[in-house]
Amino acid sequence: MSYADIVKEANTYSNVLKDIRRDLHQIPEFGLQLPKTLERVLASVHGLGEITLSKTITSAALHIKGGQPGPTVLLRADMDALAVVEDTGLDFASTNGFMHACGHDLHMAMGIGAAHLIATHKDELKGDVIIWFQPGEEGHGGADVMLEEDMHLVSGQMPIAAYGIHVFSSYPKGMFGSKVGPLMAAAGGMTVTFKGAGGHGSMPWLSKDPISPMAEAISALQTMVNKRFSAFDPVVINVGWVKAGDDHTENVIPEVASFGATIRTFSVANTEKVKQYSTELLNGIAAAHGLEVEVEFMPSTKVLMNDAKAIDRVEHVIQDAFGPGRYWSMPDPIAGGEDFASIVDLIPGAFVFMGACPDGIDPSTASTNHSNKAMFDDSVIADGAALLASLAFDALNEASRG
Ligand SMILES: [Zn+2]
Ligand SMILES: [Zn+2]
Repeated sequence: MSYADIVKEANTYSNVLKDIRRDLHQIPEFGLQLPKTLERVLASVHGLGEITLSKTITSAALHIKGGQPGPTVLLRADMDALAVVEDTGLDFASTNGFMHACGHDLHMAMGIGAAHLIATHKDELKGDVIIWFQPGEEGHGGADVMLEEDMHLVSGQMPIAAYGIHVFSSYPKGMFGSKVGPLMAAAGGMTVTFKGAGGHGSMPWLSKDPISPMAEAISALQTMVNKRFSAFDPVVINVGWVKAGDDHTENVIPEVASFGATIRTFSVANTEKVKQYSTELLNGIAAAHGLEVEVEFMPSTKVLMNDAKAIDRVEHVIQDAFGPGRYWSMPDPIAGGEDFASIVDLIPGAFVFMGACPDGIDPSTASTNHSNKAMFDDSVIADGAALLASLAFDALNEASRG
């Protein structure tokens, strides 16, 4: 059975996978508890392998045992939606205040499709495949919880490789893209609170205004990025909110002023340096104005590092399965974060992007992932499922050859 045959086979049940995706699209759930979603997924993979459920979150690991002995490969599909009110006008749009605006409904359908392809041909499978259905990708650390609960070990051995796909509403339909090394940023954040002393706005010298040092800090952080970090190992710090005072008054100096920023880095060294340098800078500014500052860092995802051998496999499997012109070797990583990073930190693997911009929409102006207007062409699901299944077969075939 060639990878092109797997693609053909996957496309014979493209409509079934689309229907599953559209069902899932109408029941989006948020965070780590997705009971309706998991129930629908489990119904679609019933009988294909052994299911292990988490004790704390709604996650499942499907273990498909191959007909021949060998190592284990892990595939991952994430399942959670965003707190976004959908405005696509699609006839299967969600109406419950949440939305699959990041395409995880397509990922679940791909995982389900891959499970069927692998189970159908499990006699030819030289080892085992674990497929994760994971909640809480959107900043809730779902992958980390599943790793802590050893759900990558349900076959009784450490997987030799891990693969995952992410769709994008603004990338050309059917195109795959990835790269060796860093693909996605470590995404973290900080909240900063300047603690002064309130008073009358007419007499600032009698109080400790927290707003001025906060304003200074917000611009000083950008100078810090520019002056203390290499231009060739980029850092992004972006302030997303500021809070101080009350918009009913102009003549009051508030006691505290605070802001929150997202932090993106592409190396472990910079993830640590940002914490150290920001803390020094913010303490320095606060001290210069006679105030105190509290700096709190949120846990960061890891930098998503693709393994060179795993990317080799992605490239040649895509070539064999779909022919030339379907893979784009990306020159740069993207600054988004992903908890798949925790998986490939432990297990060598690769994360692959897949374009899902609907026909008739220009990818360059299409609404992006996370937009309330983001639309994904679900005709790509079958190819995505075929790629996941083919990667698993290929990794296990190679391992069996020693
Ligand atoms: Zn997302
Ligand atoms: Zn996502």
